[in-house]
Amino acid sequence: MRAMRVHETGGPEVMLYEDVADLEPGPTEAVVGVEAIGVNFIDIYQRLGMYPLQLPFTPGSEAAGRVISVGSEVTELAAGDLVAYCMVVGAYAQQAIVPAHRLVKLPQGMDAQTGAAVMLQGMTAHYLVYTTYPVQAGDDVLVHAGAGGVGLLLIQMAKRLGARVLTTVSTEEKAKLARDAGADVTIRYTEEDFEERVKEATDGKGVPVVYDSVGKTTFDKSMNCLSPRGYLVLFGQSSGFVEPMAPNDLARGSYFLTRPGLGHHTRTREELLWRANDVLGWIESGEVKLHIGGAYALTEAAEAHRALASRQTMGKLVLLP
Ligand code: NDP
Repeated sequence: MRAMRVHETGGPEVMLYEDVADLEPGPTEAVVGVEAIGVNFIDIYQRLGMYPLQLPFTPGSEAAGRVISVGSEVTELAAGDLVAYCMVVGAYAQQAIVPAHRLVKLPQGMDAQTGAAVMLQGMTAHYLVYTTYPVQAGDDVLVHAGAGGVGLLLIQMAKRLGARVLTTVSTEEKAKLARDAGADVTIRYTEEDFEERVKEATDGKGVPVVYDSVGKTTFDKSMNCLSPRGYLVLFGQSSGFVEPMAPNDLARGSYFLTRPGLGHHTRTREELLWRANDVLGWIESGEVKLHIGGAYALTEAAEAHRALASRQTMGKLVLLP
């Protein structure tokens, strides 16, 4: 089979499409014939070495496809099942080896592209609104990068729970997409002061939660947008890592600061299935809409990485082997 391989960390060009040996599952694993792959920022961080992995490796942490073979101890799955997964490295390939307990069967009629596109960002949005800061009806919430992969899903899930959603975006085209997803207030943070706009929109009260995936360029003002005892949920850093800060800075509003990750929110099979089946169910019923902003051949993974890193994308990117 063929796979993208990274032998040294660096720019998009370090990903090389190579022949590799076919995979054999261990007793508790399955081999998946990959039909679609989700592109995520984590793939870029791993390629750059910001999140170090042992070299060489096959990048990619999200995919969907049909089970080719299962190990001797796997009872829940069989060859031919259409499944999706995330948070297991090695997805940029024609086949991937995955612990069976990480695989989720797709609902009848859902295609692999949809499954691969929604697992990681969908479950992230899910834990952010249900677990990190449980959104209540009537809450004002601020979502940064609202036209992004997580952003569009987060807006819709916060709206489902009855929130009023304020969101930041860099262009009018992105603002329109965020409004179509349900955002009540869109703020062009590259042109206007988002802190001022949030204060205006909330009569000076601020918001009880900011979901911040942008990091370096938004963090300080995100904290200024909080109402007392508000939650600053820093879940990513698309603009770069946030500078160190003093814990005492939180005292001015009795704020809560957290840096959550999906891995800690899908630790058991039950938790994974709760989140995945909610998300897949809402996509299936049309209650939550998925926006696939670009599909590339797997051989063009470098192009997809360049587009994502340079802020050109809306919604989700997928790769097709
Ligand atoms: P997005 O689709 O949101 O893409 C990133 C967006 O961030 C851009 O489109 C852009 O939107 C905005 N942005 C602002 N400044 C920059 C910049 N300097 N460079 C690039 N983009 C910028 O990506 P994802 O939804 O996939 O992920 C967003 C972040 O969340 C990443 O850091 C990712 O690692 C993290 N993440 C964390 C998870 C967790 O569990 N903790 C899970 C999933 C993702 P605009 O043009 O509107 O400003």
